[in-house]
Amino acid sequence: MDKKLKVDPIREGTVIDHIPANKALQVLSIIKAAQDDVVTVGINFASHKFGRKDIVKIEGRELSQKDINSIALIAPDATVIIIRDFQVINKYPVQIPDTLNGLARCANPRCITNHEEMMTRFRVQQKNPVRLRCHYCERVFDGDELELVTA
Ligand SMILES: [Zn+2]
Repeated sequence: MDKKLKVDPIREGTVIDHIPANKALQVLSIIKAAQDDVVTVGINFASHKFGRKDIVKIEGRELSQKDINSIALIAPDATVIIIRDFQVINKYPVQIPDTLNGLARCANPRCITNHEEMMTRFRVQQKNPVRLRCHYCERVFDGDELELVTA
């Protein structure tokens, strides 16, 4: 068991650690917990690395790669911890791929992707803090400036 986890151990599920302080609720909106998901949110925990951090814990669910890519936009330093049978079976930093397709809406109201039925496409220019360039209108945005496509 990882003693550094301040949250209670869970049997099965995902812990997202090292979320910047006060961003946990944004992470939650990405995860979109189902009605019967048990989710624990820790806000403003002390962290050696960041001073303060948030933690989100979802029981009984392992996040999809798409969820993790979305979380990376808001929390590029986050760590994903997969737990099975109370054991940490996988622990890795979130990673933003070089291109993001269909993950977020372009924040430029004049962008063609906001007027046609088409998938958005962003190229990641910088990973931390995240900067993305729209493939179509070429505008550059911060990771948390974009509205994520959820569903
Ligand atoms: Zn655009």
